[in-house]
Amino acid sequence: MQILVVEDEPTLLEFLRSGLEAAGYSVLTASDGNNGLSLARRADIDCVVLDLMLPGLSGEEVLVRLRAARPTLPVIVLTARDGVHDRVRNLDAGADDYMVKPFSLAELTARIRARLRAPDQGSSGLTVVGSVQLDLHSRTALVAERTIHLTNREFGLLSTFMRHPGQVLSQPQLLDQIWGQQFESTSSNVVEVAVRSLRRKLGEHVIETVRGAGYRFVG
Ligand code: CA
Repeated sequence: MQILVVEDEPTLLEFLRSGLEAAGYSVLTASDGNNGLSLARRADIDCVVLDLMLPGLSGEEVLVRLRAARPTLPVIVLTARDGVHDRVRNLDAGADDYMVKPFSLAELTARIRARLRAPDQGSSGLTVVGSVQLDLHSRTALVAERTIHLTNREFGLLSTFMRHPGQVLSQPQLLDQIWGQQFESTSSNVVEVAVRSLRRKLGEHVIETVRGAGYRFVG
Protein backbone atom coordinates (compact mmCIF):
# COMPACT_ATOMS: atom_id res chain seq x y z
CA MET A 1 0.00 0.00 0.00
CA GLN A 2 1.38 3.36 -1.02
CA ILE A 3 0.41 6.57 0.75
CA LEU A 4 0.97 10.05 -0.62
CA VAL A 5 1.53 12.73 2.01
CA VAL A 6 1.12 16.35 0.86
CA GLU A 7 2.36 18.75 3.53
CA ASP A 8 4.53 21.84 3.26
CA GLU A 9 5.82 21.89 6.81
CA PRO A 10 9.11 19.92 6.63
CA THR A 11 9.12 18.68 10.22
CA LEU A 12 5.57 17.39 10.04
CA LEU A 13 6.18 15.88 6.60
CA GLU A 14 9.20 13.97 7.90
CA PHE A 15 7.31 12.89 11.01
CA LEU A 16 4.47 11.54 8.88
CA ARG A 17 6.80 9.82 6.44
CA SER A 18 8.76 8.00 9.10
CA GLY A 19 5.67 7.16 11.12
CA LEU A 20 3.75 5.75 8.16
CA GLU A 21 6.79 3.82 6.97
CA ALA A 22 7.14 2.36 10.43
CA ALA A 23 3.49 1.32 10.16
CA GLY A 24 4.38 -0.65 7.04
CA TYR A 25 3.30 1.70 4.25
CA SER A 26 5.44 2.92 1.44
CA VAL A 27 5.29 6.70 1.37
CA LEU A 28 5.59 9.33 -1.34
CA THR A 29 5.70 12.97 -0.37
CA ALA A 30 5.00 16.35 -1.92
CA SER A 31 5.38 19.74 -0.30
CA ASP A 32 3.14 21.82 -2.53
CA GLY A 33 -0.27 21.48 -4.13
CA ASN A 34 0.81 21.10 -7.75
CA ASN A 35 3.23 18.26 -7.09
CA GLY A 36 0.73 16.72 -4.74
CA LEU A 37 -1.97 16.71 -7.39
CA SER A 38 0.20 15.19 -10.09
CA LEU A 39 1.48 12.45 -7.77
CA ALA A 40 -2.03 11.72 -6.49
CA ARG A 41 -3.18 10.96 -10.03
CA ARG A 42 -0.72 8.07 -10.23
CA ALA A 43 -2.51 4.76 -10.22
CA ASP A 44 -0.17 3.26 -7.61
CA ILE A 45 -1.29 5.68 -4.88
CA ASP A 46 -3.78 4.00 -2.54
CA CYS A 47 -4.49 6.84 -0.13
CA VAL A 48 -3.67 10.55 0.18
CA VAL A 49 -3.00 12.50 3.36
CA LEU A 50 -3.55 16.10 2.32
CA ASP A 51 -2.77 19.27 4.22
CA LEU A 52 -5.19 22.09 3.40
CA MET A 53 -2.85 25.06 3.72
CA LEU A 54 -0.35 24.56 0.94
CA PRO A 55 1.68 26.84 -1.28
CA GLY A 56 0.65 26.85 -4.93
CA LEU A 57 -2.63 25.02 -5.23
CA SER A 58 -4.45 24.90 -1.92
CA GLY A 59 -5.41 21.55 -0.47
CA GLU A 60 -9.05 22.21 -1.29
CA GLU A 61 -8.23 22.90 -4.93
CA VAL A 62 -6.15 19.74 -5.05
CA LEU A 63 -9.07 17.81 -3.63
CA VAL A 64 -11.59 19.15 -6.12
CA ARG A 65 -9.33 18.47 -9.12
CA LEU A 66 -8.29 15.09 -7.81
CA ARG A 67 -11.92 14.03 -7.43
CA ALA A 68 -12.46 14.59 -11.14
CA ALA A 69 -9.60 12.20 -11.93
CA ARG A 70 -9.93 9.64 -9.14
CA PRO A 71 -13.37 9.82 -7.56
CA THR A 72 -12.90 6.95 -5.14
CA LEU A 73 -9.30 7.43 -3.98
CA PRO A 74 -9.36 7.75 -0.18
CA VAL A 75 -8.28 11.25 0.91
CA ILE A 76 -7.72 12.26 4.53
CA VAL A 77 -7.47 15.99 5.00
CA LEU A 78 -5.25 17.62 7.62
CA THR A 79 -6.55 20.90 8.91
CA ALA A 80 -5.51 23.39 11.52
CA ARG A 81 -8.96 24.88 11.38
CA ASP A 82 -11.40 23.39 13.76
CA GLY A 83 -14.56 25.03 12.44
CA VAL A 84 -17.49 22.78 11.67
CA HIS A 85 -18.00 24.82 8.53
CA ASP A 86 -14.56 23.89 7.18
CA ARG A 87 -15.10 20.25 7.96
CA VAL A 88 -18.37 20.18 6.12
CA ARG A 89 -16.89 22.03 3.19
CA ASN A 90 -14.02 19.56 2.98
CA LEU A 91 -16.35 16.63 3.05
CA ASP A 92 -18.41 18.32 0.37
CA ALA A 93 -15.29 18.76 -1.72
CA GLY A 94 -14.75 15.03 -1.48
CA ALA A 95 -12.55 14.31 1.54
CA ASP A 96 -13.23 10.92 3.08
CA ASP A 97 -12.07 11.97 6.49
CA TYR A 98 -10.24 14.78 8.22
CA MET A 99 -7.82 15.20 11.10
CA VAL A 100 -7.49 18.39 13.09
CA LYS A 101 -3.92 19.33 13.98
CA PRO A 102 -2.37 18.42 16.28
CA PHE A 103 -3.24 14.75 15.93
CA SER A 104 -1.57 11.54 16.98
CA LEU A 105 0.12 9.28 14.49
CA ALA A 106 -1.76 6.34 15.97
CA GLU A 107 -5.04 8.03 15.17
CA LEU A 108 -3.98 8.86 11.64
CA THR A 109 -2.84 5.31 10.91
CA ALA A 110 -6.12 4.01 12.34
CA ARG A 111 -8.05 6.30 9.99
CA ILE A 112 -5.90 5.23 7.04
CA ARG A 113 -6.45 1.57 7.87
CA ALA A 114 -10.19 2.18 8.03
CA ARG A 115 -10.19 3.94 4.66
CA LEU A 116 -8.11 1.25 2.99
CA ARG A 117 -10.15 -1.58 4.37
CA ALA A 118 -12.31 -2.74 1.53
CA PRO A 119 -15.75 -3.90 2.56
CA ASP A 120 -15.56 -7.43 3.81
CA GLN A 121 -15.73 -9.24 0.51
CA GLY A 122 -14.25 -12.46 1.71
CA SER A 123 -15.57 -15.72 0.37
CA SER A 124 -18.91 -15.02 2.02
CA GLY A 125 -19.35 -11.71 0.19
CA LEU A 126 -21.19 -10.37 3.22
CA THR A 127 -20.83 -6.93 4.78
CA VAL A 128 -22.46 -6.22 8.12
CA VAL A 129 -23.09 -2.84 9.72
CA GLY A 130 -25.41 -2.65 12.70
CA SER A 131 -28.67 -4.41 11.90
CA VAL A 132 -28.05 -4.52 8.16
CA GLN A 133 -26.30 -7.30 6.31
CA LEU A 134 -25.48 -6.86 2.64
CA ASP A 135 -24.81 -9.76 0.31
CA LEU A 136 -22.53 -8.44 -2.41
CA HIS A 137 -23.05 -11.47 -4.63
CA SER A 138 -26.82 -11.65 -4.66
CA ARG A 139 -27.15 -7.86 -4.15
CA THR A 140 -29.71 -8.35 -1.44
CA ALA A 141 -29.88 -7.02 2.10
CA LEU A 142 -30.87 -8.93 5.19
CA VAL A 143 -32.51 -7.14 8.10
CA ALA A 144 -34.01 -9.04 11.02
CA GLU A 145 -33.90 -12.25 8.98
CA ARG A 146 -35.88 -10.59 6.22
CA THR A 147 -34.36 -10.72 2.72
CA ILE A 148 -34.72 -7.41 0.92
CA HIS A 149 -34.31 -7.06 -2.81
CA LEU A 150 -32.58 -3.91 -4.00
CA THR A 151 -32.60 -1.98 -7.23
CA ASN A 152 -29.21 -1.19 -8.76
CA ARG A 153 -29.34 2.32 -7.35
CA GLU A 154 -30.31 1.17 -3.91
CA PHE A 155 -27.54 -1.40 -3.96
CA GLY A 156 -25.00 1.21 -5.09
CA LEU A 157 -26.07 3.60 -2.38
CA LEU A 158 -26.21 0.99 0.36
CA SER A 159 -22.82 -0.51 -0.44
CA THR A 160 -21.27 2.98 -0.47
CA PHE A 161 -22.84 3.76 2.89
CA MET A 162 -21.64 0.47 4.31
CA ARG A 163 -18.07 1.20 3.29
CA HIS A 164 -18.28 4.41 5.34
CA PRO A 165 -20.31 3.51 8.42
CA GLY A 166 -20.93 6.37 10.82
CA GLN A 167 -19.47 8.90 8.42
CA VAL A 168 -21.33 11.85 6.94
CA LEU A 169 -21.47 11.59 3.16
CA SER A 170 -22.62 14.61 1.18
CA GLN A 171 -24.98 14.40 -1.76
CA PRO A 172 -22.20 15.26 -4.26
CA GLN A 173 -20.01 12.52 -2.77
CA LEU A 174 -22.76 9.98 -3.05
CA LEU A 175 -23.64 11.01 -6.58
CA ASP A 176 -20.03 10.85 -7.59
CA GLN A 177 -19.39 7.46 -6.05
CA ILE A 178 -22.54 5.77 -7.16
CA TRP A 179 -23.68 7.31 -10.39
CA GLY A 180 -20.52 8.91 -11.73
CA GLN A 181 -20.10 12.45 -12.83
CA GLN A 182 -22.90 12.76 -15.33
CA PHE A 183 -25.00 14.03 -12.46
CA GLU A 184 -22.47 16.53 -11.24
CA SER A 185 -23.97 19.62 -12.81
CA THR A 186 -27.61 18.75 -12.32
CA SER A 187 -29.49 19.61 -9.18
CA SER A 188 -30.92 16.15 -9.17
CA ASN A 189 -32.75 14.77 -6.17
CA VAL A 190 -31.72 11.26 -7.16
CA VAL A 191 -29.88 10.74 -3.86
CA GLU A 192 -32.85 11.87 -1.81
CA VAL A 193 -35.13 9.52 -3.69
CA ALA A 194 -32.80 6.54 -3.25
CA VAL A 195 -32.29 7.32 0.45
CA ARG A 196 -36.03 7.44 0.93
CA SER A 197 -36.55 4.08 -0.71
CA LEU A 198 -33.70 2.50 1.28
CA ARG A 199 -35.25 3.79 4.50
CA ARG A 200 -38.59 2.37 3.48
CA LYS A 201 -37.05 -1.03 2.86
CA LEU A 202 -34.52 -1.22 5.70
CA GLY A 203 -36.06 0.93 8.42
CA GLU A 204 -36.17 4.70 8.92
CA HIS A 205 -33.41 4.72 11.52
CA VAL A 206 -30.65 3.17 9.39
CA ILE A 207 -29.80 6.42 7.59
CA GLU A 208 -29.64 9.70 9.48
CA THR A 209 -29.98 13.07 7.78
CA VAL A 210 -27.29 15.52 8.88
CA ARG A 211 -28.72 18.92 8.09
CA GLY A 212 -26.67 20.94 5.65
CA ALA A 213 -24.08 18.17 5.35
CA GLY A 214 -25.54 14.95 4.02
CA TYR A 215 -26.37 11.52 5.31
CA ARG A 216 -24.88 9.11 7.81
CA PHE A 217 -25.41 5.36 7.77
CA VAL A 218 -25.76 3.87 11.22
CA GLY A 219 -27.13 0.44 10.32
CA1 CA B 1 0.54 23.65 5.65
